Amino acid sequence: MFDAIIIGAGACGLMCAVQAGFLGKKVLILEKNNKPGAKILISGGGRCNYTNLNNSALNFISENAHFCKSAFSQWTVNDTISFFETYGIYGKEKTLGQLFPETNSAKDIVNVFTGLCNDLGQEIRCDADVKLVQLTEDGSFSIAYERNGKSSVVETKRLVVASGGLPVQKMGATDFGLKVARQFGLRIAATAPALVPLTVTGKEADWFANLSGNSIFCRVSNEQISFEENILFTHWGLSGPAILQISSYWHPGEWITIDLLPGQNIAELLEEERRQNGKKLFLTFLSGLYTKKVAESFGKYLPVDKNIASLSKIDIQQAERFIHQFKVKPAGDKGYDRAEVMRGGVATEELSSKTLEAKKVPGLFFGGECVDVTGWLGGYNFQWAWASGYVIANNI
Ligand SMILES: Cc1cc2nc3c(=O)[nH]c(=O)nc-3n(C[C@H](O)[C@H](O)[C@H](O)COP(=O)(O)OP(=O)(O)OC[C@H]3O[C@@H](n4cnc5c(N)ncnc54)[C@H](O)[C@@H]3O)c2cc1C
Repeated sequence: MFDAIIIGAGACGLMCAVQAGFLGKKVLILEKNNKPGAKILISGGGRCNYTNLNNSALNFISENAHFCKSAFSQWTVNDTISFFETYGIYGKEKTLGQLFPETNSAKDIVNVFTGLCNDLGQEIRCDADVKLVQLTEDGSFSIAYERNGKSSVVETKRLVVASGGLPVQKMGATDFGLKVARQFGLRIAATAPALVPLTVTGKEADWFANLSGNSIFCRVSNEQISFEENILFTHWGLSGPAILQISSYWHPGEWITIDLLPGQNIAELLEEERRQNGKKLFLTFLSGLYTKKVAESFGKYLPVDKNIASLSKIDIQQAERFIHQFKVKPAGDKGYDRAEVMRGGVATEELSSKTLEAKKVPGLFFGGECVDVTGWLGGYNFQWAWASGYVIANNI
């Protein structure tokens, strides 16, 4: 009856169903939630940052940095933009290339897909929790699912696993995609929460907690990469876009370095101030760069009660180190319930980059977050979900 069955009515599964419909292929989506697109609806604070104008393979983390290139050449950011424009959604750029619907409504994005699925006759079967996938003797996939307390089985020659990653269980997240991959002997690249806040414990914890709610524009770095965006202090550690970004590159036990005044040089600024207004208190000077609360908190590490003219060479060196090379060794991360995405997933060498079909299992496709392609914060993960859904639709 169906040309393919898709597990998961998320970003990837919905795009796949619609694109398959344009090609005249009939699909069935099985979705365990009671509605499609649950994560799209909460994304970007309910506004859905649906792509990024700067999208390139450089904005993705994967064991194979080149893997995503084929999908992104088949479905570009312009394709995403014009697809949504066709259905009345115009994008507006917020910052750093991040595109949101002009209406600020993630619901509009989901409505495009539900409307199209309806028009194209693609069935989205909600409340259908897929429990088991098995290969039958004739090479079909037998898919067992539970729906309203009843078990059912459907068969298909082409199965699309678009069941997402592990973040946010209450939104329907499962490890189902990883389980299916393992069952068919496909390797999984190590998974971990990504785009996730980081925790700070130990003797510094109170200092961070005391600053809860304050944010600072910073450059956050580790040995691999730097991000310049805000960090946000919280009562358990650090969050904010720059921290979420670096978290995707962070491993337990590693340090991160924070430049609290990127693009400026504190020693030069102090020297300038000393010449013009040496009597100024160091605290007053810092309050011009940060909120008063943040400036006061620096008193734990810097002689903020001195006036600038009386700062010694050592004081200035200490200020340079503190402000430009603030080191943090996070205790951990806030886990999958606070992560926006999962790092790792079905290993890329197991899939054709051109079709996303499993090399060892003809007819089995993986797309979206369950594949080892993890985007930065800023609409990149949806761009991957749309692109991978499109690619699969062309090959089922
Ligand atoms: C709070 C939050 C905000 C985010 N904001 C953004 C943003 O603004 N921009 C951006 O690019 N990315 C954002 N992301 C990431 C983005 O939502 C995901 O990368 C994207 O949704 C992945 O799409 P997907 O189709 O692979 O998986 P999903 O969208 O997670 O869809 C998978 C679907 O499969 C279903 N499923 C799972 N297991 C089964 C099963 N056994 N049987 C049946 N169905 C099953 C799930 O219920 C789910 O509906 C955000 C994530 C979170 C958590």
